[in-house]
Amino acid sequence: MSQNSSSATKISTYLMMIVLIVLALAIIALVSAAYMYPSNLEFALFLLATGVIAMGLSVYVLLQSRKRMASMKIEAPKVMTTVECRKCNIKNVREFQRGDYVFKDLEPCQKCNDNMIITAIYKEVKEKEKTYGV
Ligand SMILES: [Zn+2]
Repeated sequence: MSQNSSSATKISTYLMMIVLIVLALAIIALVSAAYMYPSNLEFALFLLATGVIAMGLSVYVLLQSRKRMASMKIEAPKVMTTVECRKCNIKNVREFQRGDYVFKDLEPCQKCNDNMIITAIYKEVKEKEKTYGV
């Protein structure tokens, strides 16, 4: 898990560097556009447009990567559902499905043909997540 998170930060620093370079180029383009403005209007406008687009793009990428990093950290724990046959004491654990609720009747048990019921719904807490110290 620590390997995973370190590679993620590596990617984000890469991304940050690219974004910063693009941002710097955008600023250079804007500054040179201002210098060229009176004499070379067309080129100044071109630089202005390029600078604005590049700046917008880098800000957008920055915001997107921030969102992604946030969603990576808050990895939603899995919700599990315990399905039980009370007669034969069979217990099955499966992933939560939409519409599950405790004491809901499910398909008949394979052994006794009695309806199986949901006895528990809980969030699965992974051991690894504790090391994050959130
Ligand atoms: Zn049964």
